[in-house]
Amino acid sequence: TGTLFIVATPIGNLQDMTPRALEVLADVGLIAAEDTRHSGRLLQHFGISTPTTACHDHNERDKSARLVERMLAGEDMALISDAGTPLISDPGYHLVRAAREAGVRVCPVPGPCALVAALSAAGLPSDRFAFEGFLPAKASGRRQRLQALASEPRTWMLYEAPHRLLECLEDMLDILGPDRQVVLARELTKTFETIRGAPVAELVEWVRADSDQQRGECVLVVEAMPPRDENEGLDPEAERILDLLLEELP
Ligand code: SAM
Repeated sequence: TGTLFIVATPIGNLQDMTPRALEVLADVGLIAAEDTRHSGRLLQHFGISTPTTACHDHNERDKSARLVERMLAGEDMALISDAGTPLISDPGYHLVRAAREAGVRVCPVPGPCALVAALSAAGLPSDRFAFEGFLPAKASGRRQRLQALASEPRTWMLYEAPHRLLECLEDMLDILGPDRQVVLARELTKTFETIRGAPVAELVEWVRADSDQQRGECVLVVEAMPPRDENEGLDPEAERILDLLLEELP
């Protein structure tokens, strides 16, 4: 049986293409791509002439069976998306599932991923985190999801379309309050890469005032719900005594 390679491609900077990704893409018999025209340019840039076939949200379910048959017959294949890691807010789930169910080896070739890049530079706790993908496009659905996320105890992250960024931040301000720390990571790995963290009230003002911030691709990294201060509600005298007692503890 052949192998299905899940290959990450750059999220903006072509130099992030890994040597292993290039080798695999050149060696396989077929590349399943989210958009063959888009990926055609990438492959051409690297002088790779492997044939491609379209595998996107609309045909993936139907196509998976045929692709799996070819792998069962011995052909190696690669799956790529328009940018970054396939299956991360991108097509591929049905194909990977069908391949694994059929006993085809699925082999990841890791590389760029916008959410990991954003988290690694955001400066918010990253030992545990939640990735929420895209919020619903409609305001009511988006607000509902934000309400559910307001008490999330881990750092959480979103992908957002540039034309919805300001609306999304305004809803965050409304639902999470003005002080919640949010990091906007825009155009990662590209010329105008910008990573800015601020209380959401400040971030809204900044994005509103500078329309350049409403262009390009972006990830939002949001601080977890701050833990409740255990001493909250104690009067200053009680707190002073508590501090004295704590000092005496071994
Ligand atoms: N599979 C991709 C990955 O591994 O990150 C994500 C695909 S998803 C359809 C596209 C979204 O990812 C964009 O709307 C944006 O939120 C985020 N994204 C992709 N490239 C980015 C970049 N260079 N800078 C910031 N965000 C990016």
